[in-house]
Amino acid sequence: MSTLTSVSGFPRIGQNRELKKIIEGYWKGANDLAAVKATAAELRAKHWKLQQAAGIDLIPSNDFSYYDQMLDTAILLNVIPKRYERLAFENQEDTLFAMARGYQGEKGDVTALPMKKWFTTNYHYLVPEVEPGEEIKLNSTTPFDEFNEAKALGILTKPVLIGPYTFLKLARTDQATELEYDKGLVNAVAAVYAEVLTKFNELGAEWLQLDEPYLVLDKEPGDVELFKTLYTKILAAKAGVKVLLNTYFGHIADVYETVNLLGFDGIGLDLNEGREENLEAVAKYGVASNTTIFAGVVNGRNIWRNNYATSLGLVDALKQVTDNVAVSTASSLLHVPFSTEGETGIPAEDLKHFAFAVEKLGELKEVAVLTDATEDEKKASEALAANQALFDGTRVAADPAVAARVNGLTADDYVRQPAREERQKLQREALGLPLLPTTTIGSFPQTKEVRAERAKLRKGEITKEAYDAFIKAQIDACIKHQEEIGLDVLVHGEFERNDMVEYFGQNLNGFLFTKNAWVQSYGTRCVKPPIVWGDVSRAKPITVEWSAYAQSRTNHVMKGMLTGPVTILNWSWPREDITHEEQTKQLALAIRDEVLDLEAAGIKVIQIDEAALREKLPLRKSDWHVKYLDWAVPAFRLVHSAVKPTTQIHTHMCYSEFNDIIRDIDAMDADVISFEASRGDLVVLDAIHDAHFETEAGPGVYDIHSPRIPSEKEIEDRIYEILDKMDVNKVWINPDCGLKTRGNAETWPSLEHLVAAAKAVRAKL
Ligand code: GLN
Ligand code: ZN
Repeated sequence: MSTLTSVSGFPRIGQNRELKKIIEGYWKGANDLAAVKATAAELRAKHWKLQQAAGIDLIPSNDFSYYDQMLDTAILLNVIPKRYERLAFENQEDTLFAMARGYQGEKGDVTALPMKKWFTTNYHYLVPEVEPGEEIKLNSTTPFDEFNEAKALGILTKPVLIGPYTFLKLARTDQATELEYDKGLVNAVAAVYAEVLTKFNELGAEWLQLDEPYLVLDKEPGDVELFKTLYTKILAAKAGVKVLLNTYFGHIADVYETVNLLGFDGIGLDLNEGREENLEAVAKYGVASNTTIFAGVVNGRNIWRNNYATSLGLVDALKQVTDNVAVSTASSLLHVPFSTEGETGIPAEDLKHFAFAVEKLGELKEVAVLTDATEDEKKASEALAANQALFDGTRVAADPAVAARVNGLTADDYVRQPAREERQKLQREALGLPLLPTTTIGSFPQTKEVRAERAKLRKGEITKEAYDAFIKAQIDACIKHQEEIGLDVLVHGEFERNDMVEYFGQNLNGFLFTKNAWVQSYGTRCVKPPIVWGDVSRAKPITVEWSAYAQSRTNHVMKGMLTGPVTILNWSWPREDITHEEQTKQLALAIRDEVLDLEAAGIKVIQIDEAALREKLPLRKSDWHVKYLDWAVPAFRLVHSAVKPTTQIHTHMCYSEFNDIIRDIDAMDADVISFEASRGDLVVLDAIHDAHFETEAGPGVYDIHSPRIPSEKEIEDRIYEILDKMDVNKVWINPDCGLKTRGNAETWPSLEHLVAAAKAVRAKL
């Protein structure tokens, strides 16, 4: 029998972001729900057919989603907080969107569910909220409907669901705490999955894939028991349908033995991120006789071509232990763009180094074919020869100047002087800010108008001068508005930037850009990461002119805005031929040049965003420092260590989950940090309190990911919550992220409420 090919999941937003456009159209009232459904069905059909044409055996279904697969799983299990049910929408989709985005209208006013990063990706999931006494039951037919939809097209798919263990580990109580896995809850969840299994069996499914990425994390006491209890119950319901337990983003060496004994028909292992440990575990414990190992050899997290020789070696290693090996994507392809087709801006010579989702299908098939090939067939294989040639040649020449600079760094280059406490005093005098200073995270709404002007510039329809004049007018208006509502530290609004990473990449040597390589970040939001192609250095000053212009237009302090090296790398497609550490150092030196130029141009406060620093924190604690923080944190210090004591360095992070790495955040040695906390829990405030966090901090006081306008009272309450835990001298008041994705209609009233709340609290101090 030839080697089976399996895809864990496929991008759903569409080759040209069709899903984004139709859903956003629905939100704006431009089209109806029927149109959304029609587009969704078209996309599913197209994606299934593409996989079928590529010769994929196990094609996923139910990997589609209108917003997020975790949210879908919550709805499937009837985990819908009452406040959303009370809105009493006619359509399930409207309830879903209210959970995802909040709702403010004639039916009521509710905030959205919290949103968190999906493991180490830049994808965000919604955190299911299990209320006390929640009745867990099968509450949706979507997975079955989609299976039938594909079947009607002649494609027998492999339905995919987030598994019960990952679901329970990521869900929270209505107090945002971890669930207690009592018998009732665990049994109820297992019963739903058993019912799903039975249903798929009846419908004629051959395989069912249950994704359990949470298995790659360290285990807490009780975790393995929980996993075993769930699956013993679920697998008891197994009739004909085979169950693939799929894991990714790391290894499961610590539970492999248990997993192997449970009798799954398939076990999916990530041989990209969890390579050595997974292989060792398989070698050590063997593979049950009825179990197939799904070798995750095609990287779902990066866009470089697969190295076939490496993949074949991995399959070979497994074949030493078992004959039952299928080949698979290492994770869902959700995290890579759709296709390299149409990327005409990249020379063919360069483009051939890349494989996006569609091209990865071809790779998967070729690896499977080569796995089954005899030695002679391999020798004759053109695909293998072409692949080999790609990796044998030199792709880019190293830049000796960059290497010399990196090699010349000394320990002193990573240390800012004087120490923080002294700086804080000097800065307070120099900046003359009130207590609880108010500010924003940098960007203001990128309106249609702004995007249209940029498009015109790109197409050559307007001159650079006209474009610059337009941006200046935007800056002027934004500054005036900020002054009017009374913010303390102003920003220029970032109107000149398409994206906080791509914009910098465009002004650095060593980057490549795509036209259409979008990847879903959350809901309908997509990002288009640039590609690190060669050694990185700064070509010329990037932001200095804009920041200097903005400062010249106001007497307030104008904050300069930069993206930090770790974030630039994490939100780009990194090289695979040199380490992340090396690439980050190169980036840090480039941004350091920019920081010093901003300072020289009279900018007194400089924010260096590290929105994505936490995102790539390794999933296993033992790896945190050695594999990441030990170089990521120094790289940040390298960026700002040479500024004057009075120059205030801010940073911003798009998450609040740093309670465990709070010392490391202090070790970045920024003067101020703003972070996202309004949608999440308040655990981080406790941690800040308990750890005597030294950095001044602005925990977000309202959630910008929702169009909802927070009231002044809400923000005031929030400030008091913060003051409960933090020294008032160290608190900043700001929204929880940049405002670029919002409209002006909600942004300005929200900020007015923010300033009013800060003033009200100040008055009572
Ligand atoms: N300065 C950026 C902005 O305001 C930060 C964005 C982010 O944290 N993702 O848009
Ligand atoms: Zn942010």
